[in-house]
Amino acid sequence: MQNIIHTLPEQVANQIAAGEVVQRPSSVVKELLENSIDAGASNIKLIVKDAGKTIIQVIDDGKGMNSADAVKCFERHATSKISSSDDLFALTTKGFRGEALASIASVAQVEMKTRLDNDETGTYIVLEDGKIKLNEPCQLNKGTNFSVKNLFYNIPARRNFLKEDNTELKHIIDEFERVALAHPEIAFSFTSNNNEIFRLSSGNLMQRIIGLFGQNLNQKLVALEETTDYLQIHGFVGKPDAARKKRGQQFFFVNNRFIKSSYLHHAVSSAYENLIGSDEFPAYFIFMELNPRCIDINIHPTKTEIKFEDEKTIYHLLKTAVKRSLGKNNLAPSLDFEIEQNFEFDYSRDKSQIKAPEIKFNSNFNPFKGEVKQNNQNNWQSLYQNFLQTDANDFPSESNAPTLEIEQEWDKGILNSFQFLNRFIVAESSNGLIVIDQNRAHERILYEHYKTAFTHQSNASQQELFPSSLELSVNDAVLLQGLMPELNFLGFQIELLGKNSFVIHGIPAEIAGMNAPEVLEGLIENYKLNNLEAKLDSKENICRSMAKNNCIKSGKKLSEEEINLLLEHLFQCESFSHSPSGKPVFIEIPAGEIEKQFKRNS
Ligand code: ADP
Ligand code: MG
Repeated sequence: MQNIIHTLPEQVANQIAAGEVVQRPSSVVKELLENSIDAGASNIKLIVKDAGKTIIQVIDDGKGMNSADAVKCFERHATSKISSSDDLFALTTKGFRGEALASIASVAQVEMKTRLDNDETGTYIVLEDGKIKLNEPCQLNKGTNFSVKNLFYNIPARRNFLKEDNTELKHIIDEFERVALAHPEIAFSFTSNNNEIFRLSSGNLMQRIIGLFGQNLNQKLVALEETTDYLQIHGFVGKPDAARKKRGQQFFFVNNRFIKSSYLHHAVSSAYENLIGSDEFPAYFIFMELNPRCIDINIHPTKTEIKFEDEKTIYHLLKTAVKRSLGKNNLAPSLDFEIEQNFEFDYSRDKSQIKAPEIKFNSNFNPFKGEVKQNNQNNWQSLYQNFLQTDANDFPSESNAPTLEIEQEWDKGILNSFQFLNRFIVAESSNGLIVIDQNRAHERILYEHYKTAFTHQSNASQQELFPSSLELSVNDAVLLQGLMPELNFLGFQIELLGKNSFVIHGIPAEIAGMNAPEVLEGLIENYKLNNLEAKLDSKENICRSMAKNNCIKSGKKLSEEEINLLLEHLFQCESFSHSPSGKPVFIEIPAGEIEKQFKRNS
């Protein structure tokens, strides 16, 4: 039989590589801007027409290329930036693959002019289908001028796949912002369809942030600075009251390279715990410097994901740094639930007085037992819908109300309750006052709810009126696929669409109304974190992650009905004294303690 294996023609190989490197006009913008930075430019101009579909031009005053390099740079694996595999672990440049220009030239019409500082004339190169069509001397200022025209002109399927101009332009602006933030020392301008969108002179980081995002950010940020042997952190983080409901001003740079990391985002968010609403995002511009040997940047073709040798240390350093910065600026309250002594009451004076909290409730009551079980589970769902939608009118009617047994105990046990600092619920108990952390309490309730759902292998599902789609990274997509059977039990209806994309048709009924993709993204994020911290079996992990992600957060104002429901469900839990991860749900201040305080002061 004839041999059937052959090496692909170069243009085909380049087009295949372009599939990874050049996804859309913004990918070209990123590669060209990064090349200009690597060339040591101090002024970079970006000009696009029709969101980069017609032309993307990048003009720099960097070191330029001689006439031989001007040809060579379009070959595959042609780079001036690394020469051995050792260099991969000590990268100081943005590029290193030597793939970008070859890829771009295989899917667009490219023109380039370039001149070294010391040369009298420059080189002008025109390429079509990856081949050099023209190569002649030209006049120009020192530096390089790239024009990339009619992207994907030779691959109609990909050209048609491009989104509307404003979507593509948004991607370009995202890339531009990332590059410009990382290099405030370089002056940039950005013109789109003859309108100058940005003109940024060289300056410091704060000036660059203001240049990109507006003067009013000046008042809304505090400086971040932390130096350890392992890691240096600097930048700015948003004051809590400047947090917004929308993502958009969250930036991490590692060794001056923009990266995305839900793990590090979690570290920052957790430093804001109790300071901002659960649906708000703090702004941050965080730069981390660490030995390139401790990171592997080579993990993703477009290089926004990164692998750290020691993720956990970075997580903790980052969280502490942000907390410290907020604390230094008096933006974080000193009241800390972890330490009881922080309450004004001086417990240390008479430790023997402190007894375990005693709240009057029926400890034998099991809401999931026999007759009551069915009844209560139905309640649960309707009650929870209320909880989340805060619709007091839908409050369950008498007949749906919890069993008499509980109500009686309830009456005897806790009489008055109110919310305090939008974070705690203070209630009267038979023994004094109890202070309940609303967030931990609800986390415990949901956790037990999900545990029960697994035991009964069912939970009501709520169909989404408009199924939503979810696009994940490869790793997260694999993880989610693995969890799909279990998530079905909980009421999720998820369908795998393509490699990394999913359609969500339904979510657990008790969280109906929540944003389905956000619920799943949060679940995945928490699941991964739990896996790092402790080895849990997957059901346990899902229960904990779902509870943590979907519970009422500190800072949320609760209505009287919601407070009552929360307390009621809490005391129906099998174990309500601690959150699933073992943190105390409430503390008790005995009446005797309060009386003593008065005596001491009179
Ligand atoms: P990489 O950046 O990974 O090296 P590229 O394909 O992006 O690969 O670029 C290939 C080479 O072309 C670079 O290594 C660099 O030497 C040269 N080059 C590209 N753009 C410029 C520029 N704007 N100024 C000077 N040299 C450049
Ligand atoms: Mg490059």
